[in-house]
Amino acid sequence: MSATSRGAGPGEPGRIVIVGAGMAGLYCGWRLLKSGYPAHSLRIFDALDRHGGRVHTVSWDGDPAVRLDLGAHVISDGHRIAHGLVSHFGLATAPVGTSQDTAILHLRGRTRGEREVRRSYFRKAFAYDAGWRWLRRSPRRMLKDALQAHELPGSGRGGVPAYSKELSGQALDAVLRQRLTAEELRYLSDRLGYSVGEASVNAGTTLDWLWTEMFGGRYVTIAGGMSELTAALAASMSEHGVTIGTGHRLDRFEAGRDGAPSTLHFRVDGVDRRSVETERTILAMPPGGLKPVEGVADLPAVKELFGAITPWPLVTGGIIFDEPWWQAGKLAGDRAISDLPIGQLFLASTDARAGRSTGVGVAKAYAEGQRTAYWRAFSRDAAPGKWRGPGDPLAAEVSRQMGQVLGRGVSGSVPEPLDVCLQDWQEFPFGAGFHLWSSGSHPDKAFNTALKPMPDCELHICGEAWSRRQAWMEGALESSEALLERHFGLLRCK
Ligand SMILES: Cc1cc2nc3c(=O)[nH]c(=O)nc-3n(C[C@H](O)[C@H](O)[C@H](O)COP(=O)(O)OP(=O)(O)OC[C@H]3O[C@@H](n4cnc5c(N)ncnc54)[C@H](O)[C@@H]3O)c2cc1C
Repeated sequence: MSATSRGAGPGEPGRIVIVGAGMAGLYCGWRLLKSGYPAHSLRIFDALDRHGGRVHTVSWDGDPAVRLDLGAHVISDGHRIAHGLVSHFGLATAPVGTSQDTAILHLRGRTRGEREVRRSYFRKAFAYDAGWRWLRRSPRRMLKDALQAHELPGSGRGGVPAYSKELSGQALDAVLRQRLTAEELRYLSDRLGYSVGEASVNAGTTLDWLWTEMFGGRYVTIAGGMSELTAALAASMSEHGVTIGTGHRLDRFEAGRDGAPSTLHFRVDGVDRRSVETERTILAMPPGGLKPVEGVADLPAVKELFGAITPWPLVTGGIIFDEPWWQAGKLAGDRAISDLPIGQLFLASTDARAGRSTGVGVAKAYAEGQRTAYWRAFSRDAAPGKWRGPGDPLAAEVSRQMGQVLGRGVSGSVPEPLDVCLQDWQEFPFGAGFHLWSSGSHPDKAFNTALKPMPDCELHICGEAWSRRQAWMEGALESSEALLERHFGLLRCK
């Protein structure tokens, strides 16, 4: 991946401060350095004691082979910038299965295999008040049928339908309710593992997301964990002499207008205060981190941006067992989708044969939407993403729910987990797992406003939340790339 700046280079660019060392902030810093911006002009800060933001791989002390992604875990084949970075840094990837055929489904108290449901083993696989023909359909087929009336004639031959323009101004829940009963819509959400269809989000952009990203695409993961990518960006910056000021929470922004420097006020490690002057500011953070920042959150343009975005709740958890006991079940698979608070389960094991591992079972829980509220009481008890040990009440609760989801065909009761951890992405400094454009919003206009919300101040906002590819690292990268090309004179990455 090569990157250059426009013309003869940036010259003496003035000081640039980036706040937020997630994917967007790290990429901005790395790109500016690669494009000839001098290291002494650049500073980067983050509220947490780590970098990476919502890219967060945790390892487990009990077995060095356990690397668990609590945040981003896959890269889709359409994610050009992310793939470019992975190959630039020479990171090893591994394919991730996308077929839903082997998924285990646990809905309304019954556990079934996806294959069984589709192949009509049961007249009525799950206890929903909906016709058996509907219950047998795949989520993809359900969505296609529900939106048939809005599909543009001749579209959808490549598998991805295009919808009439008027849909983009409407709320997705309202559009789907035109065709589906509440039960049918609930079933669609439960099968998908996402309840976005029951929310008042922008129908056009959300459907685009569902079709191109959820049903389409092939995926890889970074073999050593996704944090290898953010670590590579941070290490490359550090080689240039730019280190990240962790533990710096931005509290207040004093805008410098018409070329005057701005002042950023940080709270350092929760106690001290520090002020930093800068000519240009990049705030690479989501609304949840920005809302408490005085001097930015109260700008009319930024308030309007907050109104255009729906934060989507996510909670993830890691659960370690001394063996992958679920493989003994008749419905063995590596993914389960449930309507319980635990949501989806991703199941794996470390390979004892390699000799570097003890061969433990590793489960990841992924809960979204309203069900995340269930975990709030548990998330108060310990630091986010930290392993808690076997005696924690969370361990008993997750194994109880895992038993329900995977119960059928598995002999005996669920063993006690060796360890558990939980990350509630609603907490500061994130405020959400990902973001969706709200109904009635104008994503293209909002995207441009974020890149420069004040006409007379060099303030810029970027990241996944404000992008055209929300919910993905690629959104964070695309919005950063657009910012750098438009406002910092960088040429497009090849
Ligand atoms: C559970 C989960 C699963 C996901 N799965 C995938 C996936 O498989 N593939 C994929 O591509 N994407 C996935 N995503 C989305 C992806 O992780 C994000 O889109 C991306 O990491 C966002 O990067 P960002 O830099 O825009 O924001 P963030 O990662 O949120 O970074 C913002 C940074 O700003 C800092 N910050 C916030 N407020 C302040 C403040 N006031 N002062 C100082 N610092 C502050 C934060 O500490 C953080 O480091 C997932 C996300 C989650 C939560």
